[in-house]
Amino acid sequence: MTTQDKTMEVRLIENGTVIDHIPVAALFKIITILGLDGDTEHRMTIGTNLESKRMGTKAIIKIADRYPAEGEIDRIALFAPQARVNTIRDFAVVEKRHVRVPDEVRGFVRCANPMCVTNHEGVETAFRVVAEEGVPVLKCRYCEKTTRRF
Ligand SMILES: [Zn+2]
Repeated sequence: MTTQDKTMEVRLIENGTVIDHIPVAALFKIITILGLDGDTEHRMTIGTNLESKRMGTKAIIKIADRYPAEGEIDRIALFAPQARVNTIRDFAVVEKRHVRVPDEVRGFVRCANPMCVTNHEGVETAFRVVAEEGVPVLKCRYCEKTTRRF
């Protein structure tokens, strides 16, 4: 694919967000994180198993007229640390952002420890993000147990 073709592909939306370089296996996680599975309002294009020089295959999400919040971008980083979040205005990329794995995650992930207070007393979960063999895992602030699947 030529550079021009790639640009054309991105330019299909007038205003909105393109999330590029998503690992194919993480695509549906990211759809869930952004609540796109229940979104009946925004125009979206989702591509998967696309060719990528860097990754072999990749997935891409284009959403018209929607811009993810900081917290959402941090969550994307947990599953797709190499993702790029591009902001589109008037068919042009006005901002390209690398996502960054956050230091802390609140809510949205459940603690793996069934005895943890967050699983019983309606306490919001809070985790420190630590790397384990290069993979981010979550360490509970309440019970110190590590959650690896989220
Ligand atoms: Zn816990």
